[in-house]
Amino acid sequence: MVETTRIVLAARPVGAPTPANFRLETGELPDPGPGEVLLRTRYLSLDPYMRGRMSAAESYAPPVEVDGVMVGATVAEVLESRDPSLAKGDVVVAYSGWQTHHVAPASAVRKLDPDAAPPSTALGVLGMPGFTAYSGLLKIGQPKPGETVVVAAASGPVGATVGQIARIKGARAVGIAGGPDKCAYVRDELGFDAVIDHRAPDFADQLKNAVPDGIDVYFENVGGAVAAAVFPLLNTYGRVPVCGLIADYNATEAPSGPDRLPAHFRRVLTKSLTVRGFIQTEFVAEMYRDFLRDMSGWIGEGLVRYREDIVDGLENAPAAFIGLLEGRNFGKLVVRVA
Ligand code: NDP
Repeated sequence: MVETTRIVLAARPVGAPTPANFRLETGELPDPGPGEVLLRTRYLSLDPYMRGRMSAAESYAPPVEVDGVMVGATVAEVLESRDPSLAKGDVVVAYSGWQTHHVAPASAVRKLDPDAAPPSTALGVLGMPGFTAYSGLLKIGQPKPGETVVVAAASGPVGATVGQIARIKGARAVGIAGGPDKCAYVRDELGFDAVIDHRAPDFADQLKNAVPDGIDVYFENVGGAVAAAVFPLLNTYGRVPVCGLIADYNATEAPSGPDRLPAHFRRVLTKSLTVRGFIQTEFVAEMYRDFLRDMSGWIGEGLVRYREDIVDGLENAPAAFIGLLEGRNFGKLVVRVA
């Protein structure tokens, strides 16, 4: 028997999660059976989708049960293997959740080459968020040379990667981020052509000035006031990959003010827009191999840069996650567990 320390969902949040929604506890794991491995978590990924898993509302994936371990992708070390494909000491990407140890089928984990890239990047630029940017932008956004691509949460792992791929494809990248530090990073280190602070009182005017030729691709990460400012600027045949709506994840009621939906749909009609939601898993079989090849190459050539926000200690995961929904992370949020 191995002891695991874990964070469970103590109660479903109403509105923004608080520390009371989580509980740290210990438990015992069974020994790994045939075909299984015992894992020790090194890094835990914290991602916006976890807010959806804390809720019982219908979604594309089942919720975490109350008293259940919070779900999440991890980079882990194999402590014991009962499968010939993995050996003690191997480093893998797993889905262990918010806990220090886990017993998993060997078929459910992917072995990493720890010399190819820092292992934590398998949770960010070389993992699910990077793939979300790659697949959503190339499959749905389809940026052409000279076009304008706009993306918010532009310092985070999805938005940062969207803008840099847009530039690789010859498009103009305009980022939206919260606060001067994030904006400076997006412009000066990631090389976006322009960046705007969505907290500025004249945000909508600044955005309009930053896109003199209109917007051809709006990679939708946030919704809310950002989307309201972007939609009137979309060009005919514009494309909108709908990836996330983080501005609304903690909402408990419809936003105040006029109903924007009729005006949005009128633009969809009159501008012949393509608005297409997606969950990145739908493109994995078709595109993941190309993604790993392209993204590794672009990082190696210095065309894609990334930033990680690493928090130490599993016990600090709830506070870090609460901060992620408020924009307090700066880069891909990862917890160093061991
Ligand atoms: P980030 O690490 O970028 O963190 C989220 C960021 O969202 C915050 O740091 C904050 O940045 C921004 N934000 C929060 N609230 C608001 C708001 N009201 N208005 C504007 N910006 C806000 O997250 P990820 O890169 O991991 O994810 C980005 C989006 O992609 C999320 O919506 C997520 O749910 C979605 N996603 C979708 C997937 C799919 O398959 N469809 C897969 C993965 C992610 P700032 O301070 O700059 O405002």
